[in-house]
Amino acid sequence: MKILVTGGAGFIGSAVIRHIIENTQDSVINLDKLTYAGNLESLEGVANSNRYSFEQVDICDSAELKRVFAEHQPDAIMHLAAESHVDRSIDGPAAFIETNIVGTYTLLEAARAYWNGLAKDGKENKKANFRFHHISTDEVYGDLEGPEDLFTEETSYNPSSPYSASKASSDHLVRAWLRTYGFPTIITNCSNNYGPYHFPEKLIPLVILNALEGKDLPIYGKGNQIRDWLYVEDHARALYKVVTEGLVGETYNIGGHNEKQNIQVVQTICELLEELVPANKNSKASGSSQGFEGLITYVKDRPGHDIRYAIDATKIEKELNWTPQETFESGMKKTVKWYLNNSKWATRVQDGSYQRERLGEK
Ligand code: NAD
Repeated sequence: MKILVTGGAGFIGSAVIRHIIENTQDSVINLDKLTYAGNLESLEGVANSNRYSFEQVDICDSAELKRVFAEHQPDAIMHLAAESHVDRSIDGPAAFIETNIVGTYTLLEAARAYWNGLAKDGKENKKANFRFHHISTDEVYGDLEGPEDLFTEETSYNPSSPYSASKASSDHLVRAWLRTYGFPTIITNCSNNYGPYHFPEKLIPLVILNALEGKDLPIYGKGNQIRDWLYVEDHARALYKVVTEGLVGETYNIGGHNEKQNIQVVQTICELLEELVPANKNSKASGSSQGFEGLITYVKDRPGHDIRYAIDATKIEKELNWTPQETFESGMKKTVKWYLNNSKWATRVQDGSYQRERLGEK
């Protein structure tokens, strides 16, 4: 198969591409605009493969999308390109409306025109097997009320932030293209991911890197928000299963059965760091008598902050035989070790050189 992955230079998209190149015989076209969140250095291990190619394209640019489809003739699309950071969506929602809604619409239309053209070219089989896999989030469902409640594929949409509202809108567009045009779509809604190559503005990498620098570890409100954490490589495996074995028209929820309060996540990171690089031996973090945990500081909560998300992943487990391989403990240990062993990647993101060099600046 030739799979076109949008947003392949991002956190999850790069994990998907690494998974496909390293574990299958399929080819990948990585289509990415390279916003601040796109980093080709996350693909260094696979970029030399003759089954990998890169197109720097904005999903809002229909002429460029048309060219890419005509040139590469993909068998499937995995659509991950998005603006993805909730805090940024509160400060500046416009880019979220543009990429997540208008961009998804533009991509759907370009993909549909290409798909329709396959029959005219006598490629009926390729048309019948074509898939548009839209990757979305559990945040479209909003907050859970009861402590035992779980999001299922039937849960009503109730998004709280500009980010989740824009993702919910894109999910609705994708379903409408299936229903109205018979366009073969599949949707997945996943819980919070963590793991290698995660951009340091997000909670887990931010806390690891701040702790190593002896900086404050900021926690929103009381830190009692609950998220269901999934190791990114488990998500990548699930997504590949869905695009290759999932049924057209279906939605699959993906989650890790790892509900943790944000404060528990931060305490776990502190404990792992104490074990791997003890604070009293780490000059930058040694200022605090309580080790890394002493760096925790509580900051004003994010407006509209949802309290609890949790996924019921029974459907994908039963129908596609997928289960996560990592527990929260094993995945967190791998993640902390990865940041300890890959300080160059993180430093180049933090000091902006990953972006400046690609723009030809010093
Ligand atoms: P990310 O921010 O790390 O990466 C997004 C990628 O999209 C970047 O490489 C960026 O350059 C690219 N991009 C942005 N705008 C674009 C445009 N207009 N045209 C082309 N490319 C563009 O995001 P992520 O965390 O990897 O998330 C990927 C997808 O998975 C998103 O759709 C997100 O909503 C969804 N998701 C994320 C999580 C999570 O925990 N990170 C959980 C569930 C679902």
